[in-house]
Amino acid sequence: MEYRAKQEKVGALRRMRRFVNGLGRARQCCVCGHSFFRFSRFRGGWKSFSPYLHNVKWTGSDFDNFWCPFCRSHDRERHLMLYFDQLGIWGKLAGASILHLAPEKHLAARIETCQPERYVKGDLVPSREGVERIDVTQIPHADASFDWVICNHVLEHVPDDARALNEIWRVLRPGGSAILQTPFASGLETSLEDPEIATDAKRIEFYGQEDHVRLYGCDLFDRIRAPGFQLTLVKHAECLPAIDARRYGVNPDEPLFLCVKVVPDV
Ligand SMILES: [Zn+2]
Repeated sequence: MEYRAKQEKVGALRRMRRFVNGLGRARQCCVCGHSFFRFSRFRGGWKSFSPYLHNVKWTGSDFDNFWCPFCRSHDRERHLMLYFDQLGIWGKLAGASILHLAPEKHLAARIETCQPERYVKGDLVPSREGVERIDVTQIPHADASFDWVICNHVLEHVPDDARALNEIWRVLRPGGSAILQTPFASGLETSLEDPEIATDAKRIEFYGQEDHVRLYGCDLFDRIRAPGFQLTLVKHAECLPAIDARRYGVNPDEPLFLCVKVVPDV
């Protein structure tokens, strides 16, 4: 009973804080449309991350503008949606066959409205109904069976990422596209993957999160190209010049990793 009373008090406090936050106009969520004073930070925000990650110019989520206080969308989900708006990708998803790995809730709901011909959602550890168990290094689907693969912030969790990239290449149809967002350090030439970085504390310090298995450097781009992908890094400043990144809670340094399976004519 005492526990329940405490929970109710916490809930009421949260609702009050959200109500006050909702009086602001400085920030806006492109998913739910609410405006407010501030997005929620991830783990204390960027300043709480290690000096190492600051030094190597870690580029990934916007830790200072992470969760929407109303719909709980997160920054990288919002950023993809803004890129998709601008590049007309939603229209291309209509009637398409799509594989969405580690599917984000809001992005998935929006994809459903595009009426794809086939929409497979997969996760290594599915936590929601309608999501298949899929290991990205062993995708249980036929060769050339998807037009799109969306894999947003997954590769940094996968020990054998080369195998994952080969699998994504395999299941895509010729001319199909993959969206392969992942954090990387623009100040690091070669990816950092050291067996001595083996504790949660060390992984947080050097990789940014306890369940990341490496910190990608600029060799990431060649790793993605290795199976044959034609990689285009679509920059926020060029693609979304009218989108104030701070207002919409996205990282302006995070490009869209647009990868096309180009198969030469034989
Ligand atoms: Zn929202």
